[in-house]
Amino acid sequence: MISKYALIGFPVEHSLSPLMHEAGFKALNLKAEYHKLPLQIHELSRGLDYLRQNNYAGWNVTYPLKEKILPLLDFITPEARTIGAVNTVKVTDGLLQGFNTDGDGFVQSLVDRGYSLAGKKVVLLGAGGAAKSIAVSLLKNKASILVLNRTLNKAQNLVRQIASLGGNTEWGVFAPGDWLQEVDLLIQATSLGLKGEQYPFSIEGINPAAWVVDLIYSPTITPFLAQAAHQGCKTWNGLEMLLYQGALAWKIWLNREAPLELMRQALLTNQNGEESHDHKQ
Ligand code: NDP
Repeated sequence: MISKYALIGFPVEHSLSPLMHEAGFKALNLKAEYHKLPLQIHELSRGLDYLRQNNYAGWNVTYPLKEKILPLLDFITPEARTIGAVNTVKVTDGLLQGFNTDGDGFVQSLVDRGYSLAGKKVVLLGAGGAAKSIAVSLLKNKASILVLNRTLNKAQNLVRQIASLGGNTEWGVFAPGDWLQEVDLLIQATSLGLKGEQYPFSIEGINPAAWVVDLIYSPTITPFLAQAAHQGCKTWNGLEMLLYQGALAWKIWLNREAPLELMRQALLTNQNGEESHDHKQ
């Protein structure tokens, strides 16, 4: 029998998750498929009925359903509850279990590069769902965090919500400051740059030894990331986070290691193809 997995959310058309997971399934000769299922908020309940009735073994959840799905699940990990969002669901004996692998996926991508977070000063730009998930994982790994967000009360709320986890967390205004010279790891977790927009402020003078990550992977180099590279910082985009949160989903769904390198190659091949295609236009 073929095991079925899916991505639910809206829009899902341009997602790279099917490409990545199916490359992994194929490499390991698994009888499994990964489908895209566009679902809007008002269709969520019916969509979950459809997934159950059609024996889907698990699915990923993306915008705008990550928070909305919580009341419809039978079990939610304490961490996903703290974050208030679920990005991975597993079906066990008809019961829906919700997990959040975004933050741990992000951290795993750093750890695999030999980066140790303990004692590091991290600045997180943004206070949305991705930022919150990452903040929880950073605190577990003993980093200190400064959250800067355009809407200040959202940064304050995020810090308040994760305060119970302990660790050193502060909030501040979305602007350059003394933090630039002190930061060890700068994470761009806003949606600014998805359309190639210029960043609203300069990071000139940033500690050149800082590592800078933009969660956006399309475009591959946002104007923000280009600024950081220009300042001499080590930079990369959100493709690795996508890969590692997908690998964590494999552990949840299949209880096995994902063929990470093959899945990475599938993502990179697609990205290079897209870029040369863009270039031709
Ligand atoms: P949310 O909608 O939850 O949060 C959006 C964030 O962006 C908020 O902090 C918001 O600030 C900020 N923002 C939006 N527009 C502006 C602007 N014009 N100026 C300043 N700040 C702005 O989104 P997510 O947290 O889910 O996603 C954030 C980014 O991370 C997206 O680009 C998404 O593609 C990427 N992502 C990447 C993943 C990966 O695997 N690589 C996984 C998940 C997300 P405010 O509160 O003021 O509105």
